[in-house]
Amino acid sequence: MNERTGTDNDKVKVRRFSLRSLFMAAALSFGVFFMMVTVYSYYDMTLIRSSSSSLVKNSIPRIMRAQRALVNLERLRGFINTIESGSDPMAARNAYIDASALLTESMFDVEDVAVLSQSVLNKVKLMWNTRSSLSRVRSELMRNWMNLALIINRISIDSDRSVILKQDDFLGFDYLPAADFGGFMLSDHVRKQYEKAFEICSGLSQDSDWQYCEELVPAREEFDRNYSYYNSYTSELKRRSEEVSFLINLMASSYTKNETAVISTELSYITNISKDLASYLLLISAFVLISCSAFYVAVFLGVIRPLQDISIFINRFNRKLNVEDLHLPNTRITELYEMVELLRHLFEDVKKITTDSERITQRYSELLTISYYDELTGAHNRRALELFNRTMGEVPARCAVMMVDIDFFKKFNDTLGHQKGDMVLRRVSVCLIKNTSESDIVYRYGGEEFCIVLQNVDRDILTSIGRRLCQAVKQLDIINPGNDNRPVTISIGISPATLEKGQWSLEELISKADAALYEAKRSGRERFVFYEEEQDKLL
Ligand code: GH3
Ligand code: MG
Ligand code: MG
Repeated sequence: MNERTGTDNDKVKVRRFSLRSLFMAAALSFGVFFMMVTVYSYYDMTLIRSSSSSLVKNSIPRIMRAQRALVNLERLRGFINTIESGSDPMAARNAYIDASALLTESMFDVEDVAVLSQSVLNKVKLMWNTRSSLSRVRSELMRNWMNLALIINRISIDSDRSVILKQDDFLGFDYLPAADFGGFMLSDHVRKQYEKAFEICSGLSQDSDWQYCEELVPAREEFDRNYSYYNSYTSELKRRSEEVSFLINLMASSYTKNETAVISTELSYITNISKDLASYLLLISAFVLISCSAFYVAVFLGVIRPLQDISIFINRFNRKLNVEDLHLPNTRITELYEMVELLRHLFEDVKKITTDSERITQRYSELLTISYYDELTGAHNRRALELFNRTMGEVPARCAVMMVDIDFFKKFNDTLGHQKGDMVLRRVSVCLIKNTSESDIVYRYGGEEFCIVLQNVDRDILTSIGRRLCQAVKQLDIINPGNDNRPVTISIGISPATLEKGQWSLEELISKADAALYEAKRSGRERFVFYEEEQDKLL
């Protein structure tokens, strides 16, 4: 691992970033970005709000002005109607004046409508001229008609053909409205009267009567001429009236269109800003989503995953599992990099310490084992017996102690020397260990004395063990020249814990076994003796 890290650092100069600076940069960019978004949105919102309020402020007067203009146009239509067909000349004149005043008013100050109102004004002037001409021709025509009627009446009176024209035939002319006056009705009437008068003239016999008959034709011609003028002025007036009405309609629609256009322009402006803002916010949302995802991926790959790897490593390391196959992350974040480096060193140190510790533990356990065994005989030593005594607690029931002593051993030493004596000690010890079970522990108590602690035994078992041990040692057949070349034997004192559990200590059992051993020696050796409360009683 160290090698790998060393290679990374030495060969490639890796650029690293501290977590704090990374997060600060991220927070700063997000902050600036959101500030920009907020400012832009606020700016757009302000625009929308101001435009909306100005639209409301401007629209109401515009609508009211449009309404007023439409009312004025209706009034103008009324005036035009009066000019065209009003029978009262004064009323017609007033209508002309009012229409002119209305058209020159500043209400049509919009450019298109101003041009239109100017042309309407011109047309109204022409219309008024036509109306004046028509009035003139009408008066002339009335005069012609009166003259013609007078001639016809004279002819009918003079020819004594009774009255053929009634008074009513001359009436009605003045009562007709300007527009309806004349027309076909009057023309037909005049034609009929004329034909009747001419009929009378053709039947006249006296010359004096012809004077009137001769006036009849020119009077008729003059009437007809003025009548045709009258008709042409009437149709001209009608045509001009239609033109004016058309222009007024144009003005109305143009004015309404103009106002609507202004309002719809402002509305479309607001709509455009709103649309812009909506798409901008949509774009921002998408951008934020992508940025957050990218940030999450970066944090996950750069921080979370390395941390997970480190956590797994520490966990396994803590549970003393094998971490050799695990790789610590190679991160570009400074803090994590330092942590990883620290962990690597720590791991190396702990590994070294663990290895040392294992070696020391093993050595310690070896030494400990050695320290509890007697070097010469291979049996447990006194230290082991004391440890056993300290750690065993109360002496359990069915427990017993045997004190074993080699008979006449001093003599053996004295005759064959200590080295041979040591060999005897070793052989006797091995023999004792072999002839007891694994749960029975043989201790070298001192010199050529052994102490055997036995568990789960009763008197019968102890008897059989005692007998077996005595026989086994004798059967080693080690000749003791100091004792008349008899084989080496042992004497055993046995102290079983016969009473209730916990009422005896190990020292007590040893001491009693020692007393029994003494008894065995005293009574002749090469035997085993149980400790009895009455010391003199032998088995
Ligand atoms: P008995 O017990 O039958 O009464 O007679 P004994 O000769 O065995 O009596 P004693 O207990 O007086 O003698 C013990 C002898 O054991 C004395 C010593 O020479 C010998 N001895 C003690 N420790 C060792 C040892 O480590 N090696 C050898 N070779 N001899 C030892
Ligand atoms: Mg002895
Ligand atoms: Mg002895």
